Amino acid sequence: PSFLAAVSLVTSLISIVGQLRPWPPTLPQGLLALDIAGEVLLEPDATARFSTDFGCLARAAPAAVLRPSSPDDIAALVRFSYSSPQPFAIAARGYGHSVRGQALAPGGVVVDMASLGHGRADRISVSFDNAPLFWYVDAGGEQLWIDVLHETLKHGLAPRSWTDYLYLTVGGTLSNAGVSGQAFRHGPQISNVYELDVITGKGEMITCSHENKPDLFYGVLGGLGQFGIITRARIALEPAPQRVRWVRLIYTHFVSFSRDQELLISMMDQGFDYVEGSLLMDHTLITNWRSSFFSETASEKIRGLAAEFGAVYCLEGAVYYHELAMASRVDQKLHLLLQRLSFVPGFGFTNDVSYVGFLDRVHDGEVKLRSMGLWEVPHPWLNIFVPKSRIKDFEVGVFKGILMPNNSTGPVLIYPMIKNKWHDEMSAVTPDEEVFYSIGLLRSAITDDWHDLDNQNDDILGFCHRQGIQFKQYLPHYASQRDWKNHFGPKWDRFVETKRRYDPKALLSPGQRIFTSSL
Ligand code: FAD
Repeated sequence: PSFLAAVSLVTSLISIVGQLRPWPPTLPQGLLALDIAGEVLLEPDATARFSTDFGCLARAAPAAVLRPSSPDDIAALVRFSYSSPQPFAIAARGYGHSVRGQALAPGGVVVDMASLGHGRADRISVSFDNAPLFWYVDAGGEQLWIDVLHETLKHGLAPRSWTDYLYLTVGGTLSNAGVSGQAFRHGPQISNVYELDVITGKGEMITCSHENKPDLFYGVLGGLGQFGIITRARIALEPAPQRVRWVRLIYTHFVSFSRDQELLISMMDQGFDYVEGSLLMDHTLITNWRSSFFSETASEKIRGLAAEFGAVYCLEGAVYYHELAMASRVDQKLHLLLQRLSFVPGFGFTNDVSYVGFLDRVHDGEVKLRSMGLWEVPHPWLNIFVPKSRIKDFEVGVFKGILMPNNSTGPVLIYPMIKNKWHDEMSAVTPDEEVFYSIGLLRSAITDDWHDLDNQNDDILGFCHRQGIQFKQYLPHYASQRDWKNHFGPKWDRFVETKRRYDPKALLSPGQRIFTSSL
């Protein structure tokens, strides 16, 4: 064993010295003696990729990147930092789809979770428990939802709750919430988890659930990476439908649009399986990357209406079904549902697509934008949850006010969710009202300076504050601990206590900028 240890040390030394970079002053040299030293990259080429994210707004280089081959490697790194007299920050990086530097680790180590292997067969496994209707998948925290989908479909099953875009990681979305048009019915993705494997800020590997260490389990769900690195999540599954009737309905009046959305979410399984909505301004129809749903003729028609009214609202719904048994029943159901809604006559559009095609609908847009060089541009996104009681004020002040005249490039999403589908013990926060709206201003700075769009975001937040709208940021971003305290409200004390218990040296996910020193 001592011979093997010596060989491992020499190999690590050669690997690190070979990178020809002076040893970073923020990292203890003892890292060289660890078995994982060979997986630590120091070259500027390697660290550059981990110095920014999808947002392209924040930039800060880590001292090093760890490319782990197993969760044990991550635990070894965290244990080493925790016990060192010179502890350093560590950020798990899912796929870097944050927009404000949340997955950066300035001067510390970024853990490139992808190196655990996307789609690796032994990192995604489907199980059937004997109890009826109890199916689940164990997926590595690094896994992309698209790979989880493909693997579970081999068993005729699929997760119940989704994000709109599937090239996000399990660990990254569970650290936030994971929301889409299914959340009104099944809750966000964090409401659909049975168990987690977590590496805490002390380097302990803990399996937690509602029964076992619930403080850690609920803390981590929506916990912004503050208490541990998720290396496995056990996620609830349901029988997967095969096809989807997918509708988009156009409204010229916000009141009827939101009334219909609220009606649909109150119907639960008697209504749609998925409910979302968006604001369409004439040119967002063209630049919108979220799907090519509308035909050219339909786009022209809607553009005409949007030009006449300044903007229109688009309610998006989906009914899932099984191919053979249900095709005629789904037509009937859809017909009855549409009869109850008050969209503009002649402005209801229907598509019929495969279940995978529906869930993966945003990917085509990504491919298109990438080919045009418009994907890797600054994204000053703003996501907020607005209570139902103030959504009309928000519409007047923001959609009809701040966003007009429209200079927006990118989708503006608007859809309601239900608070009782969010477990109150979880770290994620929502407004204090039974129904609240998710508003996503997903704008790209293509021609404009991104600061202009960001200033507009500030105007929107300022408007909400002045009007006393009790909103919550989703994928939150704050500069001071006082703002974080306000954000978490009554959950703040528990959040700090959980941090003290599981990451007392504040090593994890420093890019969230919640804790800047040991507790
Ligand atoms: P990263 O950005 O890499 O990480 C996010 C945070 O989580 C960081 O603080 C990081 O340190 C931490 N983290 C990462 N992995 C782990 C882990 N295994 N354990 C603990 N902490 C970890 N969100 C929605 O809810 N619904 C949507 O429909 C949606 N659509 C999106 C579409 C696009 C095109 C993009 C770019 C983002 C979208 N998001 C959506 C936001 C997305 O949920 C967040 O970006 C989220 O952070 C996931 O991205 P990621 O997996 O790349 O995580």
